[in-house]
Amino acid sequence: MTTLAYLLLGSNLGDRAARLARARTDLAGAAGHVVAASALYETAAWGVEDQPDFLNQVVALETSLDAPALLAACQAAELRQGRERRVRWGARTLDVDVLLFGSEIITIPTLTVPHPALPFRRFALVPLAELAPQLVHPQLSRTVAELLAECPDELKVNKMEGS
Ligand code: AMP
Repeated sequence: MTTLAYLLLGSNLGDRAARLARARTDLAGAAGHVVAASALYETAAWGVEDQPDFLNQVVALETSLDAPALLAACQAAELRQGRERRVRWGARTLDVDVLLFGSEIITIPTLTVPHPALPFRRFALVPLAELAPQLVHPQLSRTVAELLAECPDELKVNKMEGS
């Protein structure tokens, strides 16, 4: 059995586009098949705003892993790029979040899916809406397009043309 998961990739240190490309390769090797990838978006850092802009991208990954194993693969991809977690919301070489895991609702100490911040972050909703505007959020019963239209976040999210 496979599940279609949506992952948010982000980087704001070093060669950001190369880091996202490597993350896609690493995740494909460890966790499944990248079946779709959004454009790259340049986005203002959320939380701690005095730091470089992020590049963000959402990928759809078809995986036969269960959700905790997928999270472990995401964290391994982060570690391979030297991710350090010194400052909450601080600059990072690579961040990988599980936005959605099929229509599952998961609440365990290490993992909350759908990602609880999704409805409040345009940097996640804009690229997700590019791939799956009609996807229905399993807890909120609203489409991704509706969540984006209602999102109060006003931080910059700019599509990188040609990406
Ligand atoms: P962050 O600093 O944003 O990468 O958060 C990492 C922590 O969030 C990890 O310890 C994960 O166990 C936890 N976490 C909970 N839910 C999720 C999720 N949906 N995707 C990624 N990490 C999650």
